[in-house]
Parts: sequence; C-alpha cells; structure tokens
Amino acid sequence: MQTAVQLINLTCIFGNVRAVDRVNLEVYSGEFFSMLGPSGSGKTTCLRLIGGFEAPSSGQIVLFGQDASRLPPYARDVNTVFQDYALFPHMSVLDNVAYALMVRGVPRAERHRRAGEMLELVKLSGMEHRRPSQLSGGQRQRVALARALINQPRLLLLDEPLGALDLKLREEMQIELKALQRSLGITFIYVTHDQGEALSMSDRVAVFNHGQIEQLDTPKGLYEHPQTEFVARFVGSANILEGRLIGLGEGRFALRPERVRLVAGSEPGAHRLVGRLLDVHYLGSQTRYEVQVEGGRITALAPSQEEILPAGSVVTLSWDATSLRPLADGIPARP
Ligand code: ATP
Repeated sequence: MQTAVQLINLTCIFGNVRAVDRVNLEVYSGEFFSMLGPSGSGKTTCLRLIGGFEAPSSGQIVLFGQDASRLPPYARDVNTVFQDYALFPHMSVLDNVAYALMVRGVPRAERHRRAGEMLELVKLSGMEHRRPSQLSGGQRQRVALARALINQPRLLLLDEPLGALDLKLREEMQIELKALQRSLGITFIYVTHDQGEALSMSDRVAVFNHGQIEQLDTPKGLYEHPQTEFVARFVGSANILEGRLIGLGEGRFALRPERVRLVAGSEPGAHRLVGRLLDVHYLGSQTRYEVQVEGGRITALAPSQEEILPAGSVVTLSWDATSLRPLADGIPARP
C-alpha cells in the first residue's frame, strides 16, 4: 500500500500548550482516515499542519514521499473543506466551484464545463446560478466539497464538514461522502468529534487525547478492542470493571452495555453480579438499564421487551468472559 501522508514526531506548541504532541502516523493512499477526539485534543491543529496552515514546532510532514514540512499550502497537493465552507458570497455556485481553475488560468468555457460536472457529482445540477445565500446548509456543504475536488487533489482534508447540518442530513451526507471518496479514490483525512460519524465512514481512525494519538485502529478494532479507558468511553459507551470486584485479580476491563445480559431476580455465580435497578430508559428498539452493584454502577442495553422491569427490582447481570476487554494504562489525565 502506498503512503499518502506520514507524520513523524509531529509537534505543535502554542505558548505553553502542546496542541500536537509527538504524533506519528501513516495514512495510506485511497484511505478514508479520521481523526477523532474531544474538543481541544489537537485534531484540527494536526489537520492544519498537514494542510500547511500551521507550521510545526518540530517533527516532519511527508506528503506522497516528499518532505512538505515547510511548504506553503498552495505548493501541497492538498485541498481543505472547512467547517464554515468559506464560500465566496458574491459569486455564483458555478464560479465558486470553478474558482481553483480560474486561478490557474483555465479558460472560462472549460472551467465551467468541469464545474458543471462536479456539481452533477454532488447532486447540485440546476443550482449553478444561485448565490451561496440562496442555498440550504446541506447544499452549501456540497458546493464546498465540489470546489475542493475540482482540481483533483490527491489528498482532501475535511474539518468537521458536516458539523452545521441537522442529524438526518448529516447521516445522508455521511453515506454520500463515503461513496464519493470511494468512487474518486482520493485520500480523505476527516476531523470529527462525533464517534458515530468516524466509525461509519472510516477505514481507520486515530483517537486523539491531549495532543497525542491514544489509539489508531479500524472502527471495529476501536470498538471491540479499546486499549484504554479513554477510548472505551469515547468510542461508544463502556462499563469499566475493576478486576478484583469480578473475581479476576488486578487490572481493569471494558464491557460494552449491549454485552451485559440482565434477568430479574438474584442468581449469583461466576461472571455475574447481583444488583438493584436504579433507572430504566426506554429508547424504542432498545432499553437501557442502570444497575447499582456492589462497588459501582453498570449499564446494560438490551432489545426492548413487552414488559419492562420497574426501577428498584433486584436483577442479575451476566456476560461472556470473552466480552471483557482488558485495558492497558491510558495516558494519565493532565491536571
Ligand atoms: P475542536 O474540536 O474544539 O476544534 P481540536 O481537537 O480540533 O478541538 P485544536 O483546535 O487542535 O483541538 O486545539 C488543540 C489545543 O491547542 C487547544 O488547547 C487549543 O486551545 C490550542 N490552540 C489551537 N490553536 C491555537 C492557536 N492558534 N493559538 C493558541 N492555542 C491554540
């Protein structure tokens, strides 16, 4: 597999903040790669470093085999889609999309033809002569995407591009973006704080915490085998069990709520805990149960039943031993 982007010990310091702290990673050509993390974890700064909008304090950025650490943005074979789209308000949709070609001196008829093709690709044919202000949020997003793709960059950086859209539209656009990326074969690096978004679209995901990569894995790898408590909690939700409370000695384990079985009554045994139902949240197809057990609380998620146990009931929780995922020590939280 060819490498599109390689970051080597990449560090970016603002004053006393290590926004990006010794990051090492490789993104492969044609990959849909996401950077996922909470606000302030350094993912945007990392993306801006790759795009050339920020200069590294130390470390290296290699793009398609060439050291690009000190190249200005326009000299990199990279385009960026920003969260606020950054469209030109006074230009038509067609001219917005054709902009990069105009800058390069492509004749008007040719650039309009290619912009028309891009608009078709993002399903905006017929909107050529509107201004950005005459479009919905989702349509503006597509214009921004078409504009970033028109000069066929080898790498597209996307910074929370769906952040401004409502949930339904966001889900539709996730499917379309992924399909578009696959059909064009362009490498995408996608920044998001939305774990569902990262899992559903990406080939691989880097989870950021305090400027560092806490885990880099496939979506399934992250969900099924979180290495740290931070990842277990940030990607999906997780029960964190202390080994000695469940008869397993030292160590901590992540247990996904949907892997916890719950039955009424007290039936103690191995890989079981008896507790009291604190709270029941009916979610439609599933019901979430909060259970107080000795030494903590456990969440169970199960398909909804006709009869729902009332809060206060005594219940027994159980799980398969293989559902317990051992956690390595995470990066300690900074004060
Ligand atoms: P968000 O999702 O909120 O954008 P993020 O994970 O993308 O968060 P960054 O924007 O990369 O995080 O910020 C990482 C850290 O660097 C934060 O503590 C932020 O305040 C700081 N930071 C980012 N840009 C600058 C800057 N230009 N000057 C000073 N500090 C900055």
